Amino acid sequence: MTSSELDERYSRQVLFRGIGVEGQRKLSAARIAIVGCGATGSTLASLVARAGVGTIRIIDRDYVEPSNLQRQSLFDEADAAESLPKAIAAARKIAAFNSQIIVEPHVADLIPANIAALLGEAHLILDGTDNFETRYLINDFAVKHSLRWIYTAAVGSYGVTLNVLPGQTACLACIFSSPPEGTFETCETAGILNSAVGLAASIAATEAIKMLVGADQWVRRTLLSFDVWRNERAEVAADKPRAGCRTCGDHEFPHLAGEGRPHITLCGRNSVQIHERHRPVDLAQMSELLKPHGAVRHNDFVLKFWIEPYEMTLFPDGRAIIKGTTDKTVARSLYARYVGS
Ligand SMILES: [Zn+2]
Repeated sequence: MTSSELDERYSRQVLFRGIGVEGQRKLSAARIAIVGCGATGSTLASLVARAGVGTIRIIDRDYVEPSNLQRQSLFDEADAAESLPKAIAAARKIAAFNSQIIVEPHVADLIPANIAALLGEAHLILDGTDNFETRYLINDFAVKHSLRWIYTAAVGSYGVTLNVLPGQTACLACIFSSPPEGTFETCETAGILNSAVGLAASIAATEAIKMLVGADQWVRRTLLSFDVWRNERAEVAADKPRAGCRTCGDHEFPHLAGEGRPHITLCGRNSVQIHERHRPVDLAQMSELLKPHGAVRHNDFVLKFWIEPYEMTLFPDGRAIIKGTTDKTVARSLYARYVGS
């Protein structure tokens, strides 16, 4: 693409006074990471990719399912039919509308052992996750390395977002020293409106753009929440760290140390994730081995195996998501029986 075509692509954004030619250059030089590419993550990714953020790393552990399509704006029916990993599907979609930027998909669960490799080079981290465990992990890492990140969440008709600027503003642990009440409500139990996600992600993407172009004077320093159904909106001051915060005050990073981190986790929608060890799996070979035991299907990224009433999804790094149970023992024994202990 020539520079005049580039000028054309971003012309309406460059015209916006807050960005201009200089801001657009900064966006193109920026490198960000998006952790989680479900509803919030795919909306964030779409917005920053269209805006011309130069390098976007997308980290997601999951695959596309039909129930995602109501709100996960980067995916389509073909992705769900193929059970494509969300990171891969997102990278393909983005390449179709902006081939001028670099997207680095990583099909992985963000954990203490890989966080430095996955997030270490990012100028800014965006939260597209659906769980507090990963958010506290990001918060530990970001505060420790003075990296900015933006917390964003949505459930039901409710959305919430917070900009974390280590050394300046409150961190996630300043606001929620433990997971907030009501976090047990998830998209699986309370449902979700795609417009609540869209609003939360739009606000967060705008804050990201401000930070990347250096418009810090406009960066919001509050915890902002809203309910699009009840027409409610609230802001809580977050312009300075809370005295006595273990994370940004005392520099204790228990989540980064992996304390108390389970090897098997519930990941919503009646399923269990097994990620206790890395064991590279040859999906084609595994597919042959599993054929006598049930229906099996695989592509380059994922293998699906049906053994009634369960459905196992296996990734090349040995991670598995077992659907049809919330019993970790059942999940572990299925994994041991068919993949190996
Ligand atoms: Zn703090």
